[in-house]
Amino acid sequence: MSGYSALMELECSKTGERFPADSLHNLSPAGAPLLARYDLEAAARTLRPGALADRRADMWRYHELLPAPSAEAVVSLGEGMTPLLEAPRLGAGLGLGRLYIKDEGKNPTGSFKARGMSAAVSMARLLGAGKIAVPTAGNAGGAAAAYAARAGLEAHIFVPADAPAVHKAECVLAGAKVTEVRGTIYHCGALVARRGPGEGWFDLSTFKEPYRAEGKKTMAFELFEQLNEELPDAIVYPTGGGTGLVAMWKAFGEMEAIGWIGSERPRMISVQAEGCAPLVRALEAGRDEATLWENPTTRVSGLRAPKVLADTLCLEAIRESGGTAAAVPDEAMFEAQREAGAAEGVPVCPEGAACVAALRTLRERGAVDADERIVMFNTATALKYADMAAVDCPIVDPLPEQEETG
Ligand SMILES: *Cc1c(COP(=O)(O)O)cnc(C)c1O
Repeated sequence: MSGYSALMELECSKTGERFPADSLHNLSPAGAPLLARYDLEAAARTLRPGALADRRADMWRYHELLPAPSAEAVVSLGEGMTPLLEAPRLGAGLGLGRLYIKDEGKNPTGSFKARGMSAAVSMARLLGAGKIAVPTAGNAGGAAAAYAARAGLEAHIFVPADAPAVHKAECVLAGAKVTEVRGTIYHCGALVARRGPGEGWFDLSTFKEPYRAEGKKTMAFELFEQLNEELPDAIVYPTGGGTGLVAMWKAFGEMEAIGWIGSERPRMISVQAEGCAPLVRALEAGRDEATLWENPTTRVSGLRAPKVLADTLCLEAIRESGGTAAAVPDEAMFEAQREAGAAEGVPVCPEGAACVAALRTLRERGAVDADERIVMFNTATALKYADMAAVDCPIVDPLPEQEETG
């Protein structure tokens, strides 16, 4: 343990068994995600809200509760400290007086996957991985490729052939080896698992290694800083693998342990696509586990995660927080994308727009109140989905030359 990081060990999220954090780990022997555990007393001594002003303006400002043992071990492209924007016009249209957008599209590689990959690639390099591999619906691949390049590691990306073109291009431009798969991220994951051991790839799949969640957890610390040391009443989060949801929930526990907050928590509201909603289905059925969603039909890549490895942890966070879940159709997402863009000028991705569509329904059924402070996550920039947007504007000929110059 160093003064820079208070990381102590890893804990199996199923059995509670502990493991040293000084080597590369994937799932625990019980087949469950491993979670990073810190010396919270040590962290509390230096990680105080008042002491943050002078720190670097990225997610590594919270380094005591991140895994890298020193500043030198950090692989960074300037991730985190994204704006928390008031959204009064969008909110008014939804009947919400205090709506905020946490705009994660401002991250390197245009999505919040940068946070997770900064932490995971830092640790992979530190612990001796030479090559990494990632199954991705789109954005995780771009981030993995960029951070691997930054770290001098080789990256192997497996992406569905029908993922947005920009997502594939950015991997290629960052020097990664990209394989397109006729299937979903689930099938990509199976290929990485099959081929990885023989190829010497370290598998950076969501929750198959412990540190992507650690990077994403910094979103919770930022909300607290940006809301003047308070938390919102509700967080609305487009959920694929559930990393952000579980990570922020973990962060709130740590924030309580280091004295930043009491036992209060925002309600965690998970949003999925109607065509792939394993968590919504499990929640509505009162189950603790989410089964595989056969034949996902949503076109929205970030929400096309038919199997949630951290299903139990996601469902716990939603239930314990008094939250809920909602599924929205693709069409509502594409409409809400334009609604949010026109109302606030924020380039909202379809996944982020799912939150807008869900909030309309949630407001109608009384799951959120008009005067509550609500933060919705825009998890990527709309620009990464440019090829999916219908651009239907008139095309005209230029003016005749004499008019143009005269
Ligand atoms: C990956 C992704 C999600 C889902 O994130 P999780 O934290 O794994 O649930 C949502 N939106 C976008 C744009 C994504 O890339």
